[in-house]
Amino acid sequence: MLYLSTRGHPDRKRFCEILLEGLAPDGGLYLPVNYPQVDQGTLERWRSVLVGQGYAALAFEVLSLYVDDIPRDDLRRLCEKTYTADVFGSAEIVPLKALEEGLFLQALSNGPTLAFKDMAMQLLGNLFEYELSRRGEQLNILGATSGDTGSAAEYAMRGKQGVRVFMLSPHGRMSPFQQAQMFSLMDQNIHNIAVEGVFDDCQDIVKAVSNDLDFKRRYKIGTVNSINWARLLAQVVYYFAGYFYATQSNEEKISFCVPSGNFGNVCAGHVARQMGLPIDRLIVATNENDVLDEFFRTGTYRVRGSADTYETSSPSMDISKASNFERFVFDLLERDAKRTKQLFEEALRLHGRFELGDDPLFPRAAGRYGFSSGRSSHADRLSTIRSTFERQGVVIDTHTADGVKVARELRRSGETVVVLETALPKFEGIENRPKRVRVMSADTVAVKRYIAEHCPAA
Ligand SMILES: *Cc1c(COP(=O)(O)O)cnc(C)c1O
Repeated sequence: MLYLSTRGHPDRKRFCEILLEGLAPDGGLYLPVNYPQVDQGTLERWRSVLVGQGYAALAFEVLSLYVDDIPRDDLRRLCEKTYTADVFGSAEIVPLKALEEGLFLQALSNGPTLAFKDMAMQLLGNLFEYELSRRGEQLNILGATSGDTGSAAEYAMRGKQGVRVFMLSPHGRMSPFQQAQMFSLMDQNIHNIAVEGVFDDCQDIVKAVSNDLDFKRRYKIGTVNSINWARLLAQVVYYFAGYFYATQSNEEKISFCVPSGNFGNVCAGHVARQMGLPIDRLIVATNENDVLDEFFRTGTYRVRGSADTYETSSPSMDISKASNFERFVFDLLERDAKRTKQLFEEALRLHGRFELGDDPLFPRAAGRYGFSSGRSSHADRLSTIRSTFERQGVVIDTHTADGVKVARELRRSGETVVVLETALPKFEGIENRPKRVRVMSADTVAVKRYIAEHCPAA
């Protein structure tokens, strides 16, 4: 399997070449040159693989269609090492819970940080360790976080050979639970840096360090952001598992409703559907930051400025632009890389928006690709959490509530909708654990010095 860039760069790369990379050299996102097709026979076989051998074996089947530069036995072992009942809380790994008629909740949040990002990040940790040791290289992951991503990355990389994590977060601005989650890690390869500033200051420092190409090369700086193809691929697996758990036979079609921010999670659903998984609709649920809902309703993609990016009670979906969305637009435009480049490079830079509402291809978003969308507000979240508890005795978190609200609103009669649970409510008392964190001023030079001091091998 070879991978291309959505912006038309002529290079074709293999899985392990793009594993440790972020963007393609031309600023595009990587996609496979084609989506492997899963026929009825394979679906039948995968259903019994899941039932008979478990989630890790299914993960191996899916991954092996996209990864041909890791020996099969090694890939299988990496999947088995990642998806264990020990780490994910149950033998099913992603079990379904029935809500009301026609509505299921798919549990994706029983990993170490209680959010679905563990599903992909835990695999990434093992893949990184494997590939780095094969190359005899080291990697220093530098990131900025205000919550889920940073902590999922730290829990995935803790104790891994050849990897260090330097995670910047805004000092005193994360929830006490998330601070406790990250700062209580005592592993020598995990470095928490609390920056005296806001999240944007953290992100600016990461950009400044990464733009210093000499420093970047010398200290082997890398990232694990949501555009990483391997993360997306890991997420494709649970759409297959959710489908098999929810249905009796491969004649049935079901829909998924996905709480969305950067379009990573639901983009994996798009890939699964393109492979031939019988998905009827992919329902995108946003909060007040409704960049994606606006697109699927009108065809207008409009990046928000910081003044109209809202801080909501489902903060992991508070985005101003959807960083994975380019992958879907590339497919929608029949993989026209020139046009994709024009929209995402030129139009967004010059106008902060593009409009496809009048394009004859736009109706395919709903038609051929099965997308629908809805949006939810703070009041919706509260009433959805309350009613779900009253009706089913199930406590859901605010992000998942955005999904349940939209699914209830858009579900058609007779339709089965699986809502992806993206996080669990977090209220365990872990705030008193000992903490390991360095507080620093918002100063790129100081951060660079800290990195240099803690990379003896560089
Ligand atoms: C990251 C995250 C989301 C959004 O997922 P995307 O892949 O960015 O669309 C939703 N809910 C939770 C809890 C998250 O951590």
